[in-house]
Amino acid sequence: EIPMEDLEIAMKVVIVGNGSVGKSSMIQRFCKGIFTRDYKKTIGVDFLERIIMVDDQPVRLMLWDTAGQEEFDAITRTYYRGANACVLACSIADKESFLALPKWKNKVCRECGDIPMVLVANKVDLQKESVVDSAELEGMARSLGVPKLIKSSVKDDLNVSTVFNYLAQSYMQSI
Ligand code: GDP
Repeated sequence: EIPMEDLEIAMKVVIVGNGSVGKSSMIQRFCKGIFTRDYKKTIGVDFLERIIMVDDQPVRLMLWDTAGQEEFDAITRTYYRGANACVLACSIADKESFLALPKWKNKVCRECGDIPMVLVANKVDLQKESVVDSAELEGMARSLGVPKLIKSSVKDDLNVSTVFNYLAQSYMQSI
């Protein structure tokens, strides 16, 4: 009998977008099931991981944190290297983060080529402070050629696992 871990498929997922859109929180939420308002990016690890099942196949998702490098436009090559899928993230309460999506998409394409991607519009719990509507988000996804748009709230634990299940499924279909 072959041990389970030998059958595992590992994938590296990168999460890009402007600072403060909720990237680190998303990783924490998915891998540890927690949400903290002032989680600091000082945990000193490159990634957190979680194993999920995709059609009876264990998939180990390694979620890489930019650790704040995006603030200085200084994301290293190492961060992108070998990425199998990508989350393009913005916040519905931050117009700049929305307008920066094409820049992030281009960077990922340049570094990683054509990998499965999803556009995530986070912080939908802040509906009252929203500065980006659904039509704009759908238009952005279309113009970027990103096939999937997911609205999430890491705070309320809305759709976070949907994001990673989708990427794992897309990746499995591509290999
Ligand atoms: P990053 O810079 O993109 O990694 O963003 P962080 O994960 O550090 O989050 C920035 C801030 O937004 C933190 O105070 C988080 O607690 C908060 N945050 C993250 N996700 C949500 C969300 O879905 N809703 C709300 N209201 N706040 C969030």
